[in-house]
Amino acid sequence: MKRVLLIGTGGTIASQVTEDGLAPELTSRQLLEHIPAISGICRVESLQLLNLDSTDIAPRHWLRMVRCLKNHYDEYDGFVITHGTDTMAYTAAALSYLVQGSPKPIVLTGAQKPIGFDTTDSKVNLTDAFRVASSDMPGISLVFNSKVILGTRAQKTRSHSFAAFSSINYPLLGVLREGVLLPYIRQSYTERPTFYEQLNTKVALLKLIPGTDRALLNFLLERNDALIIESFGVGGLPRYNHREDFFEVVRRWVERGRLVVLTTQVQNEGSDLGVYHVGHRLKQTPGVLEAYDMTTEAAVAKLMWILGLTADRAEAERLFYAPVAGDLLWPAVPQE
Ligand code: ASP
Repeated sequence: MKRVLLIGTGGTIASQVTEDGLAPELTSRQLLEHIPAISGICRVESLQLLNLDSTDIAPRHWLRMVRCLKNHYDEYDGFVITHGTDTMAYTAAALSYLVQGSPKPIVLTGAQKPIGFDTTDSKVNLTDAFRVASSDMPGISLVFNSKVILGTRAQKTRSHSFAAFSSINYPLLGVLREGVLLPYIRQSYTERPTFYEQLNTKVALLKLIPGTDRALLNFLLERNDALIIESFGVGGLPRYNHREDFFEVVRRWVERGRLVVLTTQVQNEGSDLGVYHVGHRLKQTPGVLEAYDMTTEAAVAKLMWILGLTADRAEAERLFYAPVAGDLLWPAVPQE
């Protein structure tokens, strides 16, 4: 029987009712008491790494998860990480860059309703996560509401219902039907994973609205090494009637070595900067990249990972466009 390590980090799944609202209080051992039948699927050991609402999860917690996985990697056949749903997609993306090529399954899951509630998705999600973690599906995935989603492609798209996550611009890795895993896609892997243990967190995100004050751009670019701009449609920057338009602000900062990544606030199908005049000149500007079909979560985590590895902008640009864990399909980028 496969050996699986459960790593608890908090979230609704582990929450209890308090006077101030739901708060994560149950340990991973207590979660297991709710699913006794798991002993028929795999041998589970558990560990409590954190107990946080995922709103409080920060990049330093991702690094703690990486160290935990690295320290226990050889002892288990698979891993389940329970996590709050609110930032689970960011953690799934971050782990996809920080733990690359894992031949063993590393599965994130959580729930919209606490495990102690009469009506809850916790038990199904947790049991399904153990099924995937004891399978031969390699790499980082997120298991939720009977779906297996690639770590770099998950996004929380519903705030209340059990179908909380979608796979963006990528097919599901598999589904679970009546407790049986139907795998569709296997990620590629290496003999041993590569663990990365540093991040540069000076990455910011700006979502444009019609009329966004360009001072915001200056503010964010001054304080960060990279800025992701969620623009409209296939991508572009507004010009308005200012003497200095958005493009000029971006150009000034990329000349000083900052990286700017254009992406779209449209959920599906990604960016294509070259299409309209509002995006076209950005495409020709060194230091300005576009995310194409990557999720914003993946772009954030990828930049933090890349800028933790190199301060050289040409190398950072090369790494950004080099696909990792299925994060980028379009346009087809030749791989070395
Ligand atoms: N606020 C919770 C969290 O992200 C929501 C959840 O887990 O569903 O920790």
